[in-house]
Amino acid sequence: MSWLRYASFRRVFSRLYAMFDPIDLVTGLEKRELTAHLAGNCDPFYIRPIKKGPGTFRRPNLIPSVNPCRLVACSCSPFDHHVEFMWLFNDRPKRCGCGHWFELCPVTAITPPHHVK
Ligand SMILES: [Zn+2]
Repeated sequence: MSWLRYASFRRVFSRLYAMFDPIDLVTGLEKRELTAHLAGNCDPFYIRPIKKGPGTFRRPNLIPSVNPCRLVACSCSPFDHHVEFMWLFNDRPKRCGCGHWFELCPVTAITPPHHVK
């Protein structure tokens, strides 16, 4: 097959078998996640680690949460080989054993809420 014939063959079949955009193929939660990524939200489920700030009582570390409570793991010291777990509840700042304060920050979910109160 000559190069010219191959090029015209490829041009015709590339029109017939074009790749679809993934955003057109997905539905439901995956589509919401992809849309959030395209909008610039790289953490739509709020699961990335958060760097601790000052963590005082007046300026606590804000933990985003869709639900009225969330389990938080605090890496109290960079030299520790474990994390401290604690439950945070709405409107109740909590102090970790290392002295840092944490507070829930309500955010909207990309999915319908599962817990209705
Ligand atoms: Zn801690």
